[in-house]
Amino acid sequence: MTLADRVNTFGQVMVARHGERVHKIAIDAGFSCPNRDGTKGRGGCTFCNNISFSPNGRKPPSIANQITAGKRVIHKRTRARKFIAYFQAYTNTYADIGHLRVQYDQALAEADVIGLSVGTRPDCVPPAVLDLLAEYRDRGFEIWLELGLQSIFDTTLERVNRGHSLVEYEQAVRAARARHLNICTHLIVGLPGETECHVIRSLDHVLALGVQGLKLHPLHVVKGTRLANDWRQGEYRPLSYEQYIHTVADLIERTPPGIIYHRITGTASREILLAPDWCACKWKVLNGIESVLRHRHTRQGSHCGPGLFPSTVLAGSHTDDHRQCIVSSL
Ligand code: SF4
Repeated sequence: MTLADRVNTFGQVMVARHGERVHKIAIDAGFSCPNRDGTKGRGGCTFCNNISFSPNGRKPPSIANQITAGKRVIHKRTRARKFIAYFQAYTNTYADIGHLRVQYDQALAEADVIGLSVGTRPDCVPPAVLDLLAEYRDRGFEIWLELGLQSIFDTTLERVNRGHSLVEYEQAVRAARARHLNICTHLIVGLPGETECHVIRSLDHVLALGVQGLKLHPLHVVKGTRLANDWRQGEYRPLSYEQYIHTVADLIERTPPGIIYHRITGTASREILLAPDWCACKWKVLNGIESVLRHRHTRQGSHCGPGLFPSTVLAGSHTDDHRQCIVSSL
């Protein structure tokens, strides 16, 4: 058995839906971020590498060139012939709607690009943006809205300087669901001050709100971040490899089988990664998660079902939840 036998991966869902492999091509369309320029906050998230962040100086290659290069590399590696343009860098809805349409249209005009995946912040998806994505979906494109939430706990979101709260995420999900858009929510495992209890409660809440996809990342410390300073001063200790693979296995078991996992780990290039070093070994992490599930004889959905979502979570009582998690971690 492979990981795909135990986890409902994006790759296998795309094969079932489109009849062949579909891969995402990461795009940097030159957007900036409202958590950097003072609109929502300053300094950015404490874990975000902003070394190259310079809205006026950063000029990525054209979208067409990025897609051409991405297709060549991915086709050579996987033989995939269909692609989704993944607007990944920074906040990809942070511009006026006319500019967004031009950027997205450029990507969709490329041969073999069958859709978009748009990564953004929950406080940056006004109705016009959601309507635009729904319009592409209605034209037959595969469309995903990727919302970076990371944690449902406002104390954590403040600690890492996210510049938004849970409420904005909930509003964004409701607005996107009203348009039947596919939502993929990003959660981080190992945030400062959090235990496994916190991330389990985050997962439960996100599932209760209703999303179609999830991405899990380990928090990694990269150069040029405030988190790197905290780590150097001993104020932040990253998760161990064992902690991560066991926590992710727990999360997968709690997730209903139909939810699509777009990613269950994340990597950073060795040039900027400070800790934990295992983050650089993507396949070791994926194999480790599969091994934990295999030894437990479990898979996605093994531990989900009625009663999964405690009423306190649905009611949004996160102050109490936070206390519960702290107590349970002692
Ligand atoms: S992680 Fe995303 S939201 Fe946070 S500062 Fe970086 S680009 Fe902005």
